[in-house]
Amino acid sequence: MPSTTLASLTTLRLGGPAEHVLTISTPADWADAVRTIGQRHEQAPVVLGHGSNVIASDAGHPGTVVVMNTRGITATRVDGTTVDVTVQAGHPLTDLAAWAAAEHLAGIECLAGIPGTTGAAPVQNAGAYGQQISDTLDHLTVWDWEMGSMRTLPAEACRLRHRDSRFKNNPGRWTVLTATFHLTRSPAAPVTYQPLADELGTSIGTRPPVAEVTAAVLANRHRRGLLLDPHGPAARQAGSVFLNPPVTATQATRLSAAGCPTHTDSDGQLRASAGWLLEHIGYRPGYKIADGIRCSDRRTLTLTTHDGATATGFVQALTELSAQVEIATGIALQPEPAMVGAWP
Ligand SMILES: Cc1cc2nc3c(=O)[nH]c(=O)nc-3n(C[C@H](O)[C@H](O)[C@H](O)COP(=O)(O)OP(=O)(O)OC[C@H]3O[C@@H](n4cnc5c(N)ncnc54)[C@H](O)[C@@H]3O)c2cc1C
Repeated sequence: MPSTTLASLTTLRLGGPAEHVLTISTPADWADAVRTIGQRHEQAPVVLGHGSNVIASDAGHPGTVVVMNTRGITATRVDGTTVDVTVQAGHPLTDLAAWAAAEHLAGIECLAGIPGTTGAAPVQNAGAYGQQISDTLDHLTVWDWEMGSMRTLPAEACRLRHRDSRFKNNPGRWTVLTATFHLTRSPAAPVTYQPLADELGTSIGTRPPVAEVTAAVLANRHRRGLLLDPHGPAARQAGSVFLNPPVTATQATRLSAAGCPTHTDSDGQLRASAGWLLEHIGYRPGYKIADGIRCSDRRTLTLTTHDGATATGFVQALTELSAQVEIATGIALQPEPAMVGAWP
């Protein structure tokens, strides 16, 4: 039987064969998966949601790949205007945001349109338009592969920072099975991001209805090429390939004077626009970076893959781009997608 490739499980469509794939479709599948992985004498599998933020190795993975495809949202506790909502790890995050909008529940409206699963979202504390998972996450249930048991991790234990968490720094140890959020039956959280305020035709600090904010976020993402269209010309991508880099106050002043957008993240760290830095050294939407690898037609910071692309070539391209930016500006760029599978 031909083996499944990591390419078929990831949006960059790169990556070699996975020796063994287990798809978790219902919570009841989990115990069997743990047993099977134990019988195969593996310490932990590679876990994927929609594969929208990974670069999978050309060599593939010589072990089990678990694909989280569980779905379901349950309101577990209602206390006045606060509603606790428990979501299965495989539930698409954008579907969760749409559900919350329909239920008039605030707290995750700005996460609409982020590709991928709810269980993967805490891994890099996914966020957009001034909102992130850590704003509303209460706790996770996880399988701890080191302890061999189920655990509840309160949000504080997840060390959620700007596009960072305990999970990102310890890949493989915990598999997220469910995520519980504190949502509020109220207007949307105050708008903090100017492009969103502009899209809504309002000002910073206002609190429009949740559904209006969700619709505005989706419209703005569509216009900026930030939605994943599996049939469009930029279908093979993993979103932004670099994080906005941290900069010192002196660097921020110099970069701002040159026209680079800078902002302070939710941890108080000054950051510069990675997309501007790439354009500063000459890259533009549509540019060819290497064989089979280009900047998307809409965004320099998104690289798309085409015939002839390899994961090794993709990583080399990121290394070269980061080196070029560092030579020109003194600022190194860190890749955003995680590398999974067997890398040399
Ligand atoms: C067009 C586009 C736009 C994007 N925009 C944004 C954005 O605005 N903001 C943002 O933050 N991100 C954005 N991303 C990145 C991506 O959507 C998020 O990181 C998302 O959370 C990844 O979900 P996934 O299910 O695809 O995860 P995957 O790519 O499958 O996995 C990502 C990482 O999480 C791990 N993982 C996956 N599921 C689990 C689990 N259940 N338990 C433990 N670990 C797990 C994987 O091993 C891997 O390390 C964008 C990506 C694309 C393609």
